[in-house]
Amino acid sequence: MSKHKYSSEYLAYIHSPQWKAKSKQCQQLTLNHCVFLPWHKSNHAHHLTYNNLEYEMPVRDIVPLSNFAHEIVHLWFFWNTPVRSVVNWLLRLLMLFCVVFWQVIWVLKQLTKLMH
Ligand SMILES: [Zn+2]
Repeated sequence: MSKHKYSSEYLAYIHSPQWKAKSKQCQQLTLNHCVFLPWHKSNHAHHLTYNNLEYEMPVRDIVPLSNFAHEIVHLWFFWNTPVRSVVNWLLRLLMLFCVVFWQVIWVLKQLTKLMH
């Protein structure tokens, strides 16, 4: 779906409180870190696919991205060519890794707090 072909249904959803809550939850899984540039804060939950619109599952359908990474992913080459499926699987793997990584960091931080 190109930026110019969004349906009114999609646009209504993307501005709804349900989507905002879902996007926020998705980003909390990586403690608001971008999965592609982990040193950046995430600003969006990016749709890897629109097949499950309104029933998105993090990792399968949506991943947290920073503004910059989001722009890159939507570039013609990555979004409108078969490269997109490779990018999608890469982002899914990165997200799995990021979820574990940031949760471990969080636990370590709590432990160091306890020891001081
Ligand atoms: Zn996107």
